[in-house]
Amino acid sequence: MVLLEDGEGEPLGAGIFDPASPLAVRVWTHGHDPVGPALFRERIRGALALRASLVSPETTAYRLLHGEGDRTPGFVVDRYGPVAVLKIDGDGAQAHRGPFVEALEGPLREAGVETLVIRGGDRGEAKTVEVAFGAAPTSNLVVTEHGIPFVVDVLRGQKTGAFLDQRENRRRVGALAEGRRMLNLFSYAGGFSLHGALGGATEVTSVDVAAAAHSSAQASFRHAGVDPRQHRFVTADAFAFLDDARKRGERWDLVVSDPPSFAPSEKAVPRAVAAYRALHRACAQVLSPGGLFCAASCSSHVDAATFAATLDDETLAMPRQGALRLLETHGAPWDHPTLPAWPEGRYLKFFVLG
Ligand code: SAH
Repeated sequence: MVLLEDGEGEPLGAGIFDPASPLAVRVWTHGHDPVGPALFRERIRGALALRASLVSPETTAYRLLHGEGDRTPGFVVDRYGPVAVLKIDGDGAQAHRGPFVEALEGPLREAGVETLVIRGGDRGEAKTVEVAFGAAPTSNLVVTEHGIPFVVDVLRGQKTGAFLDQRENRRRVGALAEGRRMLNLFSYAGGFSLHGALGGATEVTSVDVAAAAHSSAQASFRHAGVDPRQHRFVTADAFAFLDDARKRGERWDLVVSDPPSFAPSEKAVPRAVAAYRALHRACAQVLSPGGLFCAASCSSHVDAATFAATLDDETLAMPRQGALRLLETHGAPWDHPTLPAWPEGRYLKFFVLG
């Protein structure tokens, strides 16, 4: 823990120092309180109280703690019904792991969480899964998102098991899907696909390079009473799939594109922008006249304006002879709060064009 002061020696706050991180100090408070158990408890209670007041009973999977956005930098907790999953980012936060986990247990149990799992190994280290309290969870937990069941593997799934930040956008796609042939690129566990199928899409094609993702998706389809055999699950590179589809002349009325981050660092931004352009052009080329195109980006280094520019007329209009209009812009929902003066926190962009 370090105290921060300005050039005159006036106190600015306190934070956690991490010499190995590009974020040298992650600030916890502008006050004088030490960064320790009392502050941890206060922040955790505040975050959980917000969720308790805003979450709908139809949704049992949501983010309980969103790092900087809940002023708990380095600590993220996602809830999947009775199971919570903690991820700790950076050596600075790791050093406070013991007291932080201790501070979590009481409030989590009061909120009905029975098990806390800690997942590690995002930065190339070996992946680890530890149970901090409670019984080890099964790998096929069923949660609901706006009343729609999803099978989640909190032990082996990506991130903490699912991408909760797209929850409201998945619901939006469900509302737009009626009567449309839908293509879901980078479909992972089929979140957008299932919302689309239940929203009345005539047929949903899900494309992901990971075959295992499709088995989770199919399990969720069956839980929701949708026959996965009525839909298509394609294990392929999305760019190659789009290329083939264009050559075949295949078209969809609703295309969703939600790729992994293309820009791991500031330096990678130009290459990421070129990749988004290529992807968006290829999506536009398989869109039916009158179709809707939902383009997402989770790269924090590519801001909303830069991302919008990858959907400009030059990229999209030429193959379609007619520009696409930007109909809606969305981000991550309220359980992923950000600080107003911290634009990097608003990493998720979800644009609807048509
Ligand atoms: N839309 C999903 C989350 C997508 S995460 C949801 O709502 O939950 C990104 C996914 O892209 C991962 O499942 C990953 O396996 C897949 N992926 C990465 N590179 C890919 C590529 N080149 N082609 C197809 N899928 C890819």
